[in-house]
Amino acid sequence: MSTLSSDGGRRRPTDQGDVRRHNAALVLATVVSDGPISRARMAAATGLTRATVGSIVDELLDAGLLREHGTSSATGLGRPGTDLALAPDGAAGVGVEVNVDGLTAVVVDLEGTVRHRAARPGDQRDRGAAAVLRSAARLVDAALEAAADLDLPVEGVGVAVPGLVDLGEQVLRRAPNLGWTDVPVLERLAAYAETPWPAAALDNEANLAALGELWAGGHDPAGSFVLVNGDVGVGAGVVLDGRLHRGTRGFGGELGHLTVAPDGPPCRCGARGCLEQVAGLDWILAEAGLPPASGSTDDALAPLLAAVRADERRAVAAVAGAARSLGVGVAALVNLFDVDTVVLGGVFADLFPWLDEPLREVVSTRVLSAPWAPVSVQPAALGRDAAAIGAALSPLRALTSDPLAPEVAVG
Ligand SMILES: [Zn+2]
Repeated sequence: MSTLSSDGGRRRPTDQGDVRRHNAALVLATVVSDGPISRARMAAATGLTRATVGSIVDELLDAGLLREHGTSSATGLGRPGTDLALAPDGAAGVGVEVNVDGLTAVVVDLEGTVRHRAARPGDQRDRGAAAVLRSAARLVDAALEAAADLDLPVEGVGVAVPGLVDLGEQVLRRAPNLGWTDVPVLERLAAYAETPWPAAALDNEANLAALGELWAGGHDPAGSFVLVNGDVGVGAGVVLDGRLHRGTRGFGGELGHLTVAPDGPPCRCGARGCLEQVAGLDWILAEAGLPPASGSTDDALAPLLAAVRADERRAVAAVAGAARSLGVGVAALVNLFDVDTVVLGGVFADLFPWLDEPLREVVSTRVLSAPWAPVSVQPAALGRDAAAIGAALSPLRALTSDPLAPEVAVG
């Protein structure tokens, strides 16, 4: 079983085989960033010889990862040829998000396009891990079938969960909002799967949402931002210089359990006054005088969105209140890490027009450097599916960062 995250550094080549794999990764990365591109321009961009580029390109064409694209606009040097582009159907990833308010599975192709999406909305809190994971396994089975129908070879399955993930053991240690402790999610999913899956890996949903934003959200690949994912719970993924910052044990980013009111309401984690208790969806709905989320997020969000759009005072004040608490948490992150961009995901993306101003106000007064280094606050480009898309992109990212890696038997 492989681990998903490929945000680590690239291996240093040590022998001829490694050099070739390294060069293949370089060629593919250049197509991703600059493509469609001719072989000649590829050689100039990578510093590799035309011969090396030619033979690596042949291998990548054979592997189905590249395709020939039109006629290159060569500028006189060498014979005219065809440009090289990524082959969207060359590989796909399956991502599934298990969350408090429902389950979502997607199939994403090599170009990052969502080719299949299926959801099972509804509150998962009282169903128990076995029932929830059985449903998740069904969604992944169906996604794998959809990929097969589309003739997309699936590289791997990514699983996003709302809690602390032990990446080494691939166990969900704790998900306070689901009430789960020490659940071997992948083992259970494998047992419930109808057919064997390709390599699967587990990660925290806010981490995967941040990686999804980084890879497919149009951000500077070497940039820094914090993605704050809002739902019943609140999580964050911290991206520093183009890499996800997980912390020493991989448990970082638990912004939702940052204390913003030491004597505030009790949290499901056992502490008091955690950010998600005063900025999460349940709090916003209660403050707005609306029924708590018991079905899908869409069902819970619809009356809230209708109320803020109608400028109903209580709803607008509830969202502004959440924004101010969120601002306290976000300001702490900006003071610590000096990120210049805060991306709001989950329901915070839907509520962005009403969160934006009060959040910005708190951030500008609480961030020491704000007068000289303004912080940009923006909604997530991938919307509410960011975690599922990030989960699907993870195995693809691992593939493109080492496209000629020898196949490792899984099982
Ligand atoms: Zn808490």
